[in-house]
Amino acid sequence: MPTKTVATINSTGRQAASFIRAASAVGWHVKAQIRSQDGLVAEELADLPNVEFIEGDLAGPERSRLLAGLFANVKIAFVNTTHWGDEVAIGRACADAAKKAGVVHYIYSSMPDHSTFGNGWRALPMWATKFATENYVRQVGIPATFVYTGIYNNNFTSLPYPLFQMELQDDGSFVWQAPFHPDDPLPWLDAEHDVGPALLQIFKMGPNHWKGQRVTLAFERLTPLQCCARFARGVGRPVRYVHAEIDIKVTIPSGYREQLEILQETLGEKRAPYFPDLEYPREGRSIWEGYRGIEEYAREVFPIEEYANGVRWMEEPGAQPPSDVDPVEVEVSGPASRVGSRPITPSGINSPLRFSGAFHPRSHPEGLDDDFFVGST
Ligand code: NAD
Repeated sequence: MPTKTVATINSTGRQAASFIRAASAVGWHVKAQIRSQDGLVAEELADLPNVEFIEGDLAGPERSRLLAGLFANVKIAFVNTTHWGDEVAIGRACADAAKKAGVVHYIYSSMPDHSTFGNGWRALPMWATKFATENYVRQVGIPATFVYTGIYNNNFTSLPYPLFQMELQDDGSFVWQAPFHPDDPLPWLDAEHDVGPALLQIFKMGPNHWKGQRVTLAFERLTPLQCCARFARGVGRPVRYVHAEIDIKVTIPSGYREQLEILQETLGEKRAPYFPDLEYPREGRSIWEGYRGIEEYAREVFPIEEYANGVRWMEEPGAQPPSDVDPVEVEVSGPASRVGSRPITPSGINSPLRFSGAFHPRSHPEGLDDDFFVGST
């Protein structure tokens, strides 16, 4: 008999799916809204114990009915809205339905609005909608916690998607080109590995502990140079950072183009901190110690996701692995940080089938419309 029932939306997304895996594993009942049962992640979630799908599109006319069903008899919820549809309207509708149902702990996945800090910073449009939703949740008065999720490790791909392309070079090495200053720290998160256990812990500690708080889910604080050094050690090939404009090589929707332009200006040229007033990674690590860092990601997961995306560089002889990286010098972090590499969980990377929950563009067939994969920031 499940001890708790929790509601999630956009349940095949990386954040919610990570949480559902963790909640199901500890015996919670999950009411999981999904848009469709197509795709690898939906298939995987369908096989987990105690996961009940609530199927339908939150952007469509069935929203009220769907949400009433989703939150019925639910006391806790994790809500991660996306830009598909009117994000603020969906976010508000979720908050209203949760309030009506008597939800006692609501975790909303938010992001900052840089324009609220002054300094001439412009709001990143795809983040400001989340901040507006956060404010609405606060107004509605549900006991709520707001998680701010760092840059996903698995944004990196050798496919030509903007901002986090790890571009394969002729000599087998990689180049990451981005507008972030090489020395500015950035928050990193392995969303699939670490969102679930961290949220589980926040729910277990409860609303009295976390009500009204912002919690940064970022387990590493690394500059682009440090990130590349870690990535290089993991993947066993040199990785070079190029500080330059975002290179847009594929067709992208105009809304995402604007997001990238403002990101480049605000975080790149003006050097606004990614999360201007949030502490990380100490708090995240105090909640969940077993996080997967970028080095481990690059060693164990990146090649598998790349393989699933149809590229085969991992089967060919690579460039010489980097040998000149001093592990003591490659991390910027708070007092709770460890020096040097973390222990690596052994696993076989040779068979893609051994990795469960691998996310890659083809996991979400609907997201591939127009040759575009959404969700990089
Ligand atoms: P995801 O990117 O892993 O998956 C996308 C979700 O959108 C899936 O549930 C998919 O089924 C759904 N989807 C795809 N096409 C759709 C359509 N046409 N209509 C409706 N839904 C559709 O999801 P995620 O990473 O859990 O959440 C995405 C959100 O996370 C975005 O708002 C993004 O801004 C935010 N975010 C991302 C990062 C990052 O580094 N990638 C960091 C912080 C926040």
